Amino acid sequence: MQVRDQVYINGKWNRPTTDGLIDVIGSGNGEVIARAAAAGPEDVDRAVKAARAAFDGWSSRPLEERCALLDRLQAGLGDRVEEIATLVAQEVGMPVRNSRMVQAGYPAMLAGMAAKVAREYAWEEEVNGSLIVREPIGVVGCITPWNYPLLQVMQKLGPALAAGCTIVLKPSEVAPLSAFILAEVIDSLDFPPGVFNLVSGDGPTVGEAIASHPDVDMVSFTGSTRAGKRVTELAAQTIKRVALELGGKSPTVILEDADLDKAISASMRSCYMNSGQTCIAQTRMLVPKALEDKAVELAKARAESMTLGDPLSEETRLGPLSSAAQQERVRGYIRKGVEEGAELVTGGPEQPEGLEQGFFVKPTVFRGVRNDMTIAREEIFGPVLSIISYEDEEEAIKIANDTVYGLSGAVWSGDSERAKKVARRLRTGQVIVNGGRGAPGMPFGGYKQSGNGRESGKAGLEEFLELKALQL
Ligand code: NAD
Repeated sequence: MQVRDQVYINGKWNRPTTDGLIDVIGSGNGEVIARAAAAGPEDVDRAVKAARAAFDGWSSRPLEERCALLDRLQAGLGDRVEEIATLVAQEVGMPVRNSRMVQAGYPAMLAGMAAKVAREYAWEEEVNGSLIVREPIGVVGCITPWNYPLLQVMQKLGPALAAGCTIVLKPSEVAPLSAFILAEVIDSLDFPPGVFNLVSGDGPTVGEAIASHPDVDMVSFTGSTRAGKRVTELAAQTIKRVALELGGKSPTVILEDADLDKAISASMRSCYMNSGQTCIAQTRMLVPKALEDKAVELAKARAESMTLGDPLSEETRLGPLSSAAQQERVRGYIRKGVEEGAELVTGGPEQPEGLEQGFFVKPTVFRGVRNDMTIAREEIFGPVLSIISYEDEEEAIKIANDTVYGLSGAVWSGDSERAKKVARRLRTGQVIVNGGRGAPGMPFGGYKQSGNGRESGKAGLEEFLELKALQL
């Protein structure tokens, strides 16, 4: 069993000032698979001091030197893909065959992608004879969730380092192990001490110490809306910039002229990806009343054809949830759905047969869901699909937008112009039109209570920049 009892501060592995350890639990068997340091506020303070001291040197290095190190970081993480994929599969429950690319390969690529964006970026701009320059914001505290642990870290770390910022990272206590590998890879490269610091621990202790530290210039947070609000409150005391990537309750609008089979299969892939533990999961499927029976039949067949099992097995298509707490929460939502009068088509709150160990939840489909029911309003973060029927396009748009969230959505129609028109009316940061894959570097983030920042590409870099006007 791995014991990660040190934190990485100022280019060295250090014993934290506390001696607590957090158990990391295997999602597929409920056993302790590792332990990680539960650091304290004094460790955060040491890390922030190191990041502050490193800032001037790092930010004044030529851009190309920073970018070249990010390219090497991509290669270094690339060498450890199998190890990262296995650890994250165990922590989070994503089947290892998906985890290899989604949880390991792609996060590694994000380092190189950030370097590319920074190389191509227009850092200076002349306006009427004066000069506008972009500068790194300073010390950035990154607080990240467990569902895509390394991916969420790299969405922040790549652009922040390319910009010239220095970093204090607090990964999720539920899935911290890939962050330790990241620190090892960084340690093996020529990053100056203090540019990257890793302080593991829980949210109320380490997360809050980062959010309230007066020498942190910005907090980049991904996680729940609840914790995002708390981080914002604390950060407000020192007027930090706060970028928030929060939850979602994303709709798929299937119009009556859509290819129903294709639309349902894509939106169920999205809903059940990573066992539903995905911020952009399309959990509300909006179908025309006249097509509801057909849609339910297709959704039921797909849900029932999923192979549940050990996340480390190559055969598994749907793994367990990350923790006992998460499993209990999701089961609670399924019970609530039934209580509030939605019709359970398949799945349910019981442990799936033959899988007595591990935090499994059956792939579940509800029909007859009204948008005011709890299962249509709250982020469940499990494999639970709500099918909601509508009368006409106007009503579909109204239902889609009737949510406090605004992260993602999807539209399906046989007429691509019609699909785009509906997509423009959805109040979400991302809309997938007829299954479109999008391009690398597209901005990613939410409207409304899904957040206020944008990650990825040019917008993701700009998040870490200050604007300065040189009046000439
Ligand atoms: P969480 O909010 O419980 O935890 C996220 C991080 O915040 C963890 O590192 C945690 O330790 C820390 N934290 C918790 N309380 C804190 C506090 N009081 N002060 C400071 N830090 C605190 O979320 P989670 O359960 O790890 O992740 C799931 C949530 O993340 C879901 O709501 C999901 O939608 C969201 N998410 C959003 C995106 C996005 O890009 N929009 C991506 C992935 C996940």
